[in-house]
Amino acid sequence: MPVDVVIAGAGPNGLMLACELSLAGVRPVVLERLTGQEEENRANGLVGQVVRALDRRGLYERITGDAQPPAPAPRYMFGALPLDLSVLDDNPLYMLPVPQRRLERVLEARARELGADIRRGHELTGLSQDDDAVTVEVAGPDGPYRIEARYLVGADGGRSLTRKLSGIGFPGLTRDDGISLAAHVSIPAELVDPATGALNVPGYGPVPAFLHHRTERGLFVFAAFPGRPPMISTLEWGRSDGDAPPTLDDLRDSIRRVLGADLPFGPPEGDGPHLLRRLTGGNTRLAERYRDRRVLLAGDAAHVHSALGGPGLNLGLQDTVNLGWKLAAEIHGWAPPGLLDTYDAERRPAAMRVVMHTQAQSALIAPGPEVTALRELFAELLGEPATVRRIAGLMSGADIRYDDGGPGAHPLTGRAAPDLLLETDAGAVRLAELTRTARPLLLDLTEGASLVGDLAGWRDRVDVVAARARHAAPAALLLRPDCYVAWACGSAHPGEGEREALRAAAARWFGPPA
Ligand SMILES: Cc1cc2nc3c(=O)[nH]c(=O)nc-3n(C[C@H](O)[C@H](O)[C@H](O)COP(=O)(O)OP(=O)(O)OC[C@H]3O[C@@H](n4cnc5c(N)ncnc54)[C@H](O)[C@@H]3O)c2cc1C
Repeated sequence: MPVDVVIAGAGPNGLMLACELSLAGVRPVVLERLTGQEEENRANGLVGQVVRALDRRGLYERITGDAQPPAPAPRYMFGALPLDLSVLDDNPLYMLPVPQRRLERVLEARARELGADIRRGHELTGLSQDDDAVTVEVAGPDGPYRIEARYLVGADGGRSLTRKLSGIGFPGLTRDDGISLAAHVSIPAELVDPATGALNVPGYGPVPAFLHHRTERGLFVFAAFPGRPPMISTLEWGRSDGDAPPTLDDLRDSIRRVLGADLPFGPPEGDGPHLLRRLTGGNTRLAERYRDRRVLLAGDAAHVHSALGGPGLNLGLQDTVNLGWKLAAEIHGWAPPGLLDTYDAERRPAAMRVVMHTQAQSALIAPGPEVTALRELFAELLGEPATVRRIAGLMSGADIRYDDGGPGAHPLTGRAAPDLLLETDAGAVRLAELTRTARPLLLDLTEGASLVGDLAGWRDRVDVVAARARHAAPAALLLRPDCYVAWACGSAHPGEGEREALRAAAARWFGPPA
């Protein structure tokens, strides 16, 4: 029997896709070449609308252990310039400081709970495809074997073998002129300001915590995450450090060059694993397409870019939330023609925006007096709330609008749904809580729940909830499983034109009525 979907890679994106597919009633096989978890922790947190996406699936609560909904961050940074988000009344930039290793553990547990078949120690080694299936070659602990699958998703990271074997190009830039050193350390307590968390570097002055700090010679970062040893890192250009494993003395020397001062620090305290890492250069590359017939790409397999500002998982995890339901719809047989191709059409442009803003940020942190002048100008622009709103929309991905529904459509069409506070017959609930099942949803807030009958032909695929909104809200929303708005209506008494548009949107995204 062919398997419906094989996912290559149990990194965060492969695991999230496994959760999404399983929620949609498809049991994927996940191949992971490592037998255990990756030793090194990469991401320190999630930044952007992805935090709301996790909340919609109940995963935010699992990660934080907090039943409160996520709140937007009051401040962040862009190109090592402070971004005061408190000036926005509709701040879209959410943050979740979670180590990647923990995120992966939560996602793996959830995927297994939902029934995904996760095979550790199984490596994808080859693939071929015809009109009906993909044949995946696997090297497993008991020897090689093959799986016939209807679809294969490569979530196997930046060096994706799936992408290479599918002949999908990965054009872009490789730079080898930046050296980044990062380490967990111990810092004398008297150097950290208890009120602000800033690090007082003797002979240099205070450096705010978490904010990337640029000088004309490089970048310095001090970050103290709760429950973990403080982390410091530097970034310098035009140097070569050789191949010897990095040491804390290398970091000391680098800080001296970047800040022109000595920072007294020692090795980290407490249980490891502790970070001591050198990264040289970096890649900015985007897959020329996200699909080759029955093979699709997601996450780093589809795009790599600078980690400045932490945009990777905001992009990748939202790829998987976009792809999961569409792939499941193909497998269940109700996908309208072209649905699966909207994955590339919607998510490649999102990646292009991330490539653009990470490159812009790289330009803003580069050394040299011209860059210092550019930063002064940019800092002035960031004094304007309109610029802050624009940058926050860009970094969070909240400025994404997929299909706008054409002329006359409600302005929310194609945008991520707001989280509304609702009253239902079963009590108060947030819209995010109604979307944990990852099914299409009609939220009917009209007078007398007048739209419920209009989707009678889609009731096998679309859930309908009648409610009253506690605050100003549209009168009705039709949501895709990724919680993007397929159709919305502002009138509490929708006319026939609006009802027709609702049925057209249901057919556009969820296929013809039964
Ligand atoms: C230093 C650093 C810091 C970062 N900080 C942040 C941050 O703060 N915030 C953020 O959002 N992002 C950050 N990122 C980016 C983030 O770590 C990546 O975007 C993320 O790991 C991508 O996840 P993925 O699942 O697509 O790929 P990966 O995490 O690379 O996972 C791919 C998986 O596929 C497996 N695999 C590979 N080949 C095969 C095969 N042939 N068969 C089977 N399995 C295979 C691998 O073993 C791996 O487990 C950072 C990255 C780096 C390098």
